[in-house]
Amino acid sequence: MTKRIFRTVFFVAVSMFLASVALFMTVLYDYFSVVRQEELKVQTDLAARGVRDEGLTYLEGLETLDCRITWIGADGGVLYDSRSKAGEMENHLERREVREALEEGYGTAARSSFTLAERYLYSAKRLEDGTVLRLSAAQDSLPALFFGMFKPLCLIFAAAVCLSFFLASRLAKKIVEPLNGLDLDDPLASGAYEELSPLLGRLHAQQQEIGRQREELMRTSELRREFTANVSHELKTPLHTISGSAELLAEGMVRPEDVSVFSGRIYGEAKRMIRLVEDILRLSHLDEGAGDMEWEWVDLYALAEETAESFSLAAKEEGVAFLFAGEPAAVFGIRQLLQGILYNLCDNGVKYNLPGGCVSLEVGEAEGEAFLTVADTGIGIPAEHQERIFERFYRVDKSHSKEIGGTGLGLSIVKHAVSLHGAKLELLSTPGKGTKVSVRFPKKGEEEKDGDGRSVRGAQAVPGRRDHGSGKDHGL
Ligand code: ADP
Repeated sequence: MTKRIFRTVFFVAVSMFLASVALFMTVLYDYFSVVRQEELKVQTDLAARGVRDEGLTYLEGLETLDCRITWIGADGGVLYDSRSKAGEMENHLERREVREALEEGYGTAARSSFTLAERYLYSAKRLEDGTVLRLSAAQDSLPALFFGMFKPLCLIFAAAVCLSFFLASRLAKKIVEPLNGLDLDDPLASGAYEELSPLLGRLHAQQQEIGRQREELMRTSELRREFTANVSHELKTPLHTISGSAELLAEGMVRPEDVSVFSGRIYGEAKRMIRLVEDILRLSHLDEGAGDMEWEWVDLYALAEETAESFSLAAKEEGVAFLFAGEPAAVFGIRQLLQGILYNLCDNGVKYNLPGGCVSLEVGEAEGEAFLTVADTGIGIPAEHQERIFERFYRVDKSHSKEIGGTGLGLSIVKHAVSLHGAKLELLSTPGKGTKVSVRFPKKGEEEKDGDGRSVRGAQAVPGRRDHGSGKDHGL
């Protein structure tokens, strides 16, 4: 690049020099021609006065004239010439300056010699007696002038080439220097050229985007690692219990009356594992966007009624009352996922309740938006945990959750499903008093779908007015 800039600047400088010299010489030559012509006119006037007073004697007395004097008769015949014999000269009537002088009183002309090496300037004046007095002076032609000055011009040209060479190499270095000094890690900080701002801006934006993507990738792989570790840990505990109990049974080390206890333990742990694996599969299906699931108009009221029926017995066994109320509400969504939302929220309402407490499930429509609310009078969630309970495997009280068969994935599934429906999730909870979770679906006709028919509106979960849609729980 430096070489290219150098060549360009050098070529431009030398060309400019040559063009300037040519232009300058032409202008100067024209200027001196005009000046010389003016001088010739003054000299012609003076000579004309002399001829009028003294006639031919005046002309013959002139010795040191740097120009040629010709006296021409009214018929064009030459009466006197300072350089040739008058009688041998041809008729001058057709000469332009003579004709002009005869017609207008004064005439000028400029003619080049046959070889073009010289140029002659003519100035003619008509005298009172009708004759014409003409003065002519030789002048170098432009090419002759140029060749005459060839040596000094060559010297000037050589000096100009050297100067151009020096300036071009300095300029090229100066132009390239800021570009070499560009800090590609922080392009905007270098401030090289204003003209480069859009390019550097784009570079900066690109780098930021790459940085963001890298961070996102690192976060995702960190979450993936965490998730894998959690899954292995969650599976290891029941597997140990199962294998330990099964080993004791197989080796006949269990008393006959304890066999049911051990087999019950195996059964319980196996069920917990099945639930866990099912939840993991459900979650990874949601992570992939659940593109194979069918979108349809779902009667939320009917779906909630079914859920309430299936839960009322289990709730009764826990000493918890299950209440259901509401009115018809239609939601455009995926039936299975809506069922999942209802199931997990009601399940938590019952699981984290206190004997004598109650769970209320309500569905309906408000201001054109379908909603569902699950409220319980249970143990509640401390404020510092409310933000995190939507993360995978996050539990407020790990042992309590495990004891009651929790997988730690229920609310993650709820959050994902809500997000996929473009709905809003709100959580209000007071420790010791209870928890209320509400889901508000988009207004009818506002469901925005992508090419696969999925809702493309991001979920805005607002637990206790806090947004959980942008929590840590991104994918695996
Ligand atoms: P789990 O399978 O453990 O219930 P969730 O993802 O459903 O997993 O819930 C995460 C944690 O949030 C639970 O372990 C529990 O500590 C807390 N939690 C969820 N719902 C409630 C609720 N209604 N009342 C009190 N705590 C709750």
